[in-house]
Amino acid sequence: MPTAFGVLPLVLDMNAGNGNKMTAHASLLWDDQDVFLVDTGIVGQLDVIRKAMASAGFPFEKLTGVILTHQDRDHIGGLPELLEAKSGSLKVLAHELALPYLAGEIPLVKSGATVKPPLQVDQILQDGDELSLAGGVIVIHTPGHTPDHICLYHKPSRTLISGDALIAENGVLLPPDPQFTPAYEQALSSVAKLCDLEVDTVIAYHGGVCTELVAERLASIAQRQD
Ligand SMILES: [Zn+2]
Repeated sequence: MPTAFGVLPLVLDMNAGNGNKMTAHASLLWDDQDVFLVDTGIVGQLDVIRKAMASAGFPFEKLTGVILTHQDRDHIGGLPELLEAKSGSLKVLAHELALPYLAGEIPLVKSGATVKPPLQVDQILQDGDELSLAGGVIVIHTPGHTPDHICLYHKPSRTLISGDALIAENGVLLPPDPQFTPAYEQALSSVAKLCDLEVDTVIAYHGGVCTELVAERLASIAQRQD
């Protein structure tokens, strides 16, 4: 592995159907005991994930866990195949509000589909939780894009894994996409919570890494000046 612990984006190129290509920026968090993948892409991604991990210097065999930022299908779709490939020896972490959706008890917010087979969560996350993973990761509940949405803040590197609470374009941080964010006002209030953090780098699932003017961009998005 590249260093003793850390975080990095894991670029997943996927076929989003109808010949449309999509690039997602999942993340890896690792230390000497664990390698966790944050978000799993769409269905049919196992090979893409394996290859992306291998080229980042992480053999797939080392993967020990998955953290889901939220219930959307381009984030949870790859999880069943990952669980199968690891014969169940993969820890799954998600926010407590994601549980009934992942368990197939209530339909997913956006698609209305029911998750089948049900996905089990091994560790339930809540706002403010601090994981010892990768030198320290703070869970921030950021509802709006979906009710269960979380962001992850990697303290040692001051990196924010934003999921879909923010997007990026050409290295510029942008508000979440209104088209896919039903509770938009709530989503912007959630961005305001992120302004309290000292963030040097953001990994946005849709759009990738931002390092320029991050604090300024967070503030202006939260203040609805964007
Ligand atoms: Zn989403």
